Amino acid sequence: MRCARCIKNAVYSDPALCKKHFVVSIEETVENTIKKYELIKKRDHIVVAVSGGKDSITLLYILNKLKQKLSFTLTALAIDEGIVGYRDKTLVTVTNFCKQYDIALQIVSYKDSFGKSLDQFLTTTHKNTKPCTLCGAFRRTLLNKYARIYSASKLATGHNLDDESQAILMNLLRGTPQASARLGPQTGVIEDNMFIPRIKPLYFIPEKQIAAYSFMVGFNIEYGECPYAVQAYRGIVGELLNGYEQKHRGAKKNMINLFLKNKKRLMKLSMEQEEKVNYCSRCKEPSATAVCKTCLLLENKQNL
Ligand code: SF4
Ligand SMILES: [Zn+2]
Ligand SMILES: [Zn+2]
Repeated sequence: MRCARCIKNAVYSDPALCKKHFVVSIEETVENTIKKYELIKKRDHIVVAVSGGKDSITLLYILNKLKQKLSFTLTALAIDEGIVGYRDKTLVTVTNFCKQYDIALQIVSYKDSFGKSLDQFLTTTHKNTKPCTLCGAFRRTLLNKYARIYSASKLATGHNLDDESQAILMNLLRGTPQASARLGPQTGVIEDNMFIPRIKPLYFIPEKQIAAYSFMVGFNIEYGECPYAVQAYRGIVGELLNGYEQKHRGAKKNMINLFLKNKKRLMKLSMEQEEKVNYCSRCKEPSATAVCKTCLLLENKQNL
């Protein structure tokens, strides 16, 4: 099979492109998404949430390549949950990667912020709490807080087409389609100075293509998996979508496009039903409820 853009053999079949043009096409898609949805403006300071996985490393690498052309600056922000045997390794990966590409890196830990590592929480005060419930709430709080502290105008995350189509379908299956108003290539429903807008420049790129890109660029990184990762529901929905996509090419993209067409209506529905901006009475961070989920979890008062 020939590359659709030159005479070389294609190394990727969908789309049929040689190595050079496949890499270029991914970077073009990211740049086009940024421009079309105005994700980044001149003089923006972008804080990139980086876990050391292929999505966030790809995002950091491409944004670092684009920063001069699009006139913005960036800082990488890694969260150290304190997961022995996993996060310690990925933090080395992130640190080395940032050194190699001369990217400023900040690391914020659960231990410094909340007094204990995730491992310690789960073996002492929070034995009955689901790891990802605790970890997800803590991470959301710290990413927003430290993006603000490091003067971000936007917080960029590595969410891809698969993540987003899964989230849309999960919200539909749970009977809460209005929750999807918080999705999309840029920030959700609430506008508030304490919230740093979120952007997802990899929004239109399938996970498979990100894996191929990171292999072709040669990041030379070992991608581990968190020992607590179960993600049962997301896994089932992901398999369902992958099976459907195999038979009906483009299904995930169609779903995303349909969602984007109807996002305004969903936002209206969502705002009518909920979403009043509050500040948590304990930590003063923005929260939809009087006490935020992170504080409730810390006090062991969450309803799980
Ligand atoms: S899989 Fe769960 S516990 Fe592990 S890093 Fe992700 S959210 Fe945290
Ligand atoms: Zn080519
Ligand atoms: Zn709080």
